[in-house]
Amino acid sequence: MLNSLVASAKTLESIDERLLRCGISRRSFLVFCSTLMIAAPYGLAITDKMRPEDVAAGLGRVVRPSIIWLHFQDCTGCTESLLQTSHPDFGDLILNVISLEYHETLMAGSGLQARQALDEAVQKHAGNFVLVVEGSIPRKDQGIYMKLAGRPALEVLADIGGKAAAVVAIGSCASWGGIPSADPDPTEAVGVADVLTGKAIVNIPGCPPNPYTLLGVLLQYAADKTLPEMDDQHRPKFAFDRDIHEHCPRRAHFDAGNFVKQYGDEGHREGWCLYEMGCKGPDTHAGCSTRHFNEIPDVWPIGIGAPCIGCTEKSVAFKVPMFEVVKLHTIAAPPTSYAPITTTRGTISPLATGLVGIGVGALAGAGYVASRKFSKVEDDESAPGSEPPTSGSGSDSDTKPGASA
Ligand code: SF4
Repeated sequence: MLNSLVASAKTLESIDERLLRCGISRRSFLVFCSTLMIAAPYGLAITDKMRPEDVAAGLGRVVRPSIIWLHFQDCTGCTESLLQTSHPDFGDLILNVISLEYHETLMAGSGLQARQALDEAVQKHAGNFVLVVEGSIPRKDQGIYMKLAGRPALEVLADIGGKAAAVVAIGSCASWGGIPSADPDPTEAVGVADVLTGKAIVNIPGCPPNPYTLLGVLLQYAADKTLPEMDDQHRPKFAFDRDIHEHCPRRAHFDAGNFVKQYGDEGHREGWCLYEMGCKGPDTHAGCSTRHFNEIPDVWPIGIGAPCIGCTEKSVAFKVPMFEVVKLHTIAAPPTSYAPITTTRGTISPLATGLVGIGVGALAGAGYVASRKFSKVEDDESAPGSEPPTSGSGSDSDTKPGASA
């Protein structure tokens, strides 16, 4: 099915035209647009005042962007993340929203056929296509450890990347080396930006990244030929502007000093904070805590009880060991910054009980004396020489039996 979709991909066709031609229902497209609104609201200039119908109307007119997708040193997890969407129509729909001209793992052809397909796609769309790169690029020994049709990845990337309108590095490996660059880094693996210079490059790190971030970037580019605002690591701000810890559902436990000490312990079963298990959330910028994967609530590492490994952060991912805690840059470590919610309770000694008893007794005695003094003043007010009570005041003289006789 996917092969036929790729093979039949027609360029310069709007998304609406494509959906109509492939028999994709309007309803499926609206569901897709609703998800996109949650996932990439800034990248597509989608505001909270818009309805899915408005987004669908705008997106429908967009000409599908031509994509050439290259794989280098990778595990294909980023592609899997794009395809393994929970809604039955989404895999198809994604491939109908973009025009995938070349993708090694989704196409039927191989060997010479695949090589010809790549050459043709590059020639046909030169200067207009977006190059998506998955996987790192080995530099050691002139890049001989990764070849595509006999050419080192270094050479292929420089050649095809030079003809692309924009380049997206998808996943942590393509963004800055990822797992292949972990110590001892046998191939001297690097990311796209270390090889291609003078190009507009967007890094979408993650292992895997959220597919809606990629779609947000590609659709924004297709709509108005611009790329989203990016941070100093070339990540789109709409998806990487906050750290995981900021909106983590376990944050209250962090603040309270409730930490999992061991997998399977009571705290783990209760959903306590995973910081002491090596969670890198406080030092990792990504939207995982608010934009879950595959539209299923709680489907993300911390949601299922595993610590964040910091896969979107260059200085953390695959560099800081999993069991090590990260430094808290913007927040102090509990419980130094917060009073613990649970305090240790002791027993009260008999001496303390006695002293409290004496204190309470003294207070009660003082209260009694004060009340008597107050009553005395009231008594004095009705004494001879004082003002007579007014009529109807309910004085004792009015109510005494025989007083009116
Ligand atoms: S340390 Fe990790 S698990 Fe704990 S609150 Fe922060 S992000 Fe969540």
